[in-house]
Amino acid sequence: MIRVNKEVSLQSFNTLNLPSVASHFIELTDEADINAVVDYASVHSLPILWIGGGSNLVLSDRIAALVVHISLRGIRLIHESKQRVLVDVMAGENWHHFVNESVLKGWFGIENLALIPGTVGAAPVQNIGAYGVEAAEFIDSVRCYDVASREMVELSQQACGFAYRDSIFKRNPGRYLIISVRFSLNTQFMARLGYVALDEHLHSLGIDKPSANDLLNAVVAVRQSKLPDPSDLPNAGSFFKNPVVDQHVFESLKKQYPSLPYYKDLKGYKLAAGWLIDQCGWKGKRLERVGVHAKQALVLVNHSEGDRNDIDELSNKIKHDVKVNFGIDLEQEPIAYP
Ligand code: FAD
Ligand code: NAP
Repeated sequence: MIRVNKEVSLQSFNTLNLPSVASHFIELTDEADINAVVDYASVHSLPILWIGGGSNLVLSDRIAALVVHISLRGIRLIHESKQRVLVDVMAGENWHHFVNESVLKGWFGIENLALIPGTVGAAPVQNIGAYGVEAAEFIDSVRCYDVASREMVELSQQACGFAYRDSIFKRNPGRYLIISVRFSLNTQFMARLGYVALDEHLHSLGIDKPSANDLLNAVVAVRQSKLPDPSDLPNAGSFFKNPVVDQHVFESLKKQYPSLPYYKDLKGYKLAAGWLIDQCGWKGKRLERVGVHAKQALVLVNHSEGDRNDIDELSNKIKHDVKVNFGIDLEQEPIAYP
């Protein structure tokens, strides 16, 4: 028997701390209840919004939907070989807790993704990434409930259509409820230190050959020095994706802005959205109740009681300025609902 609550505040369920009320709300603690949840939504003609930690959401004042907070728990070792382990993790597990557990157990690969807020179930949604590592590299498969066909499906890594901060889950909002994620992790540790900030931090501590624990601690320290903790200063992390442009656009921008930072890969030239926003004079600026973080221009923050309109207004002004100055359309990363 499921228990649906009505008119529930979602303010503490989103890290931007936006005021928002869900017309219908349920805590999902048992996967056996999924059919009943989907039936309820269908009988009451409600769309469904699955939420985890609410750290990648931009909510409006009222959500006329069945909001389902995923609280499915459990971490289970499925198979172990000399090189790899397969681990099943339920969607409601805290992501950072899983990273810590993995290092403790000697399962390696995801250290660079430490301290990303939110749940394991949301990790495949935008294929979370940081410091040159993406979750997709370590996802073997995703077990989910397909609302369209009303059946359980197991999607292989390939079927998830992972891309830069993207996947089929993000492209089909509400369709798949991710129940658990199967990770394939290494039993041998290899540090990934491509990002200067991590390397510099470890060197400042005199560490040349970091252990997995050293790397995890370095990621935590570097992130804490730069990114606002949502419980102190509400935010949803990077508000825009880094734009990727072709050679022609890149060369003309580089001519105009010789100090333009860029990273070339197979897809083109990735520009740092934070740098573009900073150049437009937005870093540390405030628009009454909301603003741009002083240490990282990619992060929009809610200073005091800002709402969805405030965030939309700030984001639109930033997008406008970046378009006028650089000719680039910034794409929002957190999911706006509705
Ligand atoms: P939510 O915000 O609750 O949901 C996000 C989306 O996933 C929604 O569309 C929701 O419907 C869907 N969803 C959630 N759970 C499920 C489920 N079980 N099944 C189906 N759909 C689901 N992101 C990065 O990639 N890299 C970073 O380094 C990073 N750093 C951050 C730092 C800060 C300070 C903050 C606030 C955010 C950061 N983020 C980062 C963004 C965010 O933490 C991640 O996207 C995270 O995976 C969101 O998890 P969540 O549980 O909070 O998801
Ligand atoms: P940073 O290290 O100051 O780097 C600025 C930007 O340059 C980043 O966006 C990063 O792209 C890119 N970059 C830096 N070094 C690179 C390299 N060697 N190769 C390719 N790209 C490089 O960024 P930061 O703000 O402190 O964040 C550190 C990491 O955490 C980044 O990977 C960032 O994506 C991640 N993060 C993500 C969020 C989020 O909400 N999505 C929030 C906070 C931090 P990438 O973003 O593509 O890595």
